[in-house]
Amino acid sequence: MTRIAQIIVAAGKGARIGGDTPKQYRLIGGTPVLQRTIEASLKEPRITEIVAVVAEGDPHISDLLAKYERVRSVTGGASRTASVKAGLAALADNPPDFVLIHDGARPFVSKVVIAEIIEALATSPAVVPALPIPDALKSLDGAAVDRDQLRRVQTPQGFQFAKIWAAYRNIDQAANFADDIEVAKNSGLEVAFTKGDPNNFKVTYPEDFAKAEAMLATDTYIATGTGFDVHRFTSGDVMWLCGVPIECGLTLLGHSDADAGLHALTDAILGAMAHGDIGDHFPPSDPKWKGASSDKFLRYAIEILKERGGILQHVDVTLICEKPKIKPHRDAMREKIAELCDLPLTRVSVKATTTEKLGFTGRGEGLAAQASATAKLPA
Ligand code: MG
Repeated sequence: MTRIAQIIVAAGKGARIGGDTPKQYRLIGGTPVLQRTIEASLKEPRITEIVAVVAEGDPHISDLLAKYERVRSVTGGASRTASVKAGLAALADNPPDFVLIHDGARPFVSKVVIAEIIEALATSPAVVPALPIPDALKSLDGAAVDRDQLRRVQTPQGFQFAKIWAAYRNIDQAANFADDIEVAKNSGLEVAFTKGDPNNFKVTYPEDFAKAEAMLATDTYIATGTGFDVHRFTSGDVMWLCGVPIECGLTLLGHSDADAGLHALTDAILGAMAHGDIGDHFPPSDPKWKGASSDKFLRYAIEILKERGGILQHVDVTLICEKPKIKPHRDAMREKIAELCDLPLTRVSVKATTTEKLGFTGRGEGLAAQASATAKLPA
C-alpha cells in the first residue's frame, strides 16, 4: 500500500495579524484554525500520519495533539524552508511514499483537492493545486500580461517523498523559498498542476477571518432541547430554585440540592446537543453528587456545548407549583441563570404557573419545572 504522510506548517508567530495569539490558534467558529486544518486533512483516510511543525515552546500544541492518534509535532526553524525541512527530517527514518506539505492556515482544504494531488503523484514527482486568474492582468507599465500563462497556487503541495527530501537536503541552510514547489523546481523536478479550490484560501488578514466565519455560519443548525423535572417537598429551611435560595419552611427532596429548575435546564441543554440526560452524566447512585449544588451540572452542560463549538442562544424555564411564590425571586433567578449560562439577561426567561390546585403540584406535594434551551451548533 502507498504510504502517505502530511506535513502541516504552523510555526508562525502571527505577526501579520497582530495580537498575542498566533493566527493558527485563533478561533473560527469556536475552533482553532490549526485544529480545523488537521481535521480537514484527517478526512482523507489515506493520510496515515501528520507531522505538525510548530514554533519552539508552542504552548498550545500538546493539548491539541492529545486529541489525535495520527498526529505528532516537531519544532520548526527560522524560515518556512527550515520548518519544512524539519518536518521532512522527522519522516525520513521511516519514509512514506508521498508527502503532502500544507499550510496550517488553510483550514478549508477539501477531500477532493487532496485526492486529486494523491492521484497525480502516481506519475509526477511534484504536484501543486492551482487556480486560473479570472481578472485581466497588467504590469505596472500598463503592458498586458498573459493570464493564461499564470496560476494562483495553493497547498497542500504533494511530492514523491524521496525526491523532495533529496531536494531539501541539497539546499543551503540559510535559503528561504516561498514554497515547496520552488524547492522542487530548484532541484529540476517536473511540476504537475491539479485543480485548486477557491475555498482553500489562506487565513491571513482580519478580513480572511471574517470570510471564514461567514463560511462556517452557513454550516450550522439551530436546535432546541427541552427538560422536565420533579422533586417532592419536605420541611426544611431553604429551597434552592434556579440557583437562588428561598427561605420558605420547605425544601426539595433529592440526592443533590434538588434544584428542579436547574435540573430541567441542564437537561434542555443536553437535549439540544442530543447528548443524553442529567442522569447519564451525574448518576444519583454516585455518592460524589450527594448534596451537590446544581450549578455544577449546568456549568458542565454549558462546557460540553462550548467544546462542541455550540453557542447558547436562549433559555426559558417554567416552574410549576402552588408554593413558594416565585415572582419575588424571578429577577434573581434570571440573573443567576444568565451568569451561569454566560447569556445576556434578555435571553433568559423564568416563568411560573400553578395547576389550579390539581394534581401533585396542586396538592402541594412537590414542584415541577420545565425548560427549553436553544443553541446554534456546527453541522
Ligand atoms: Mg432533579
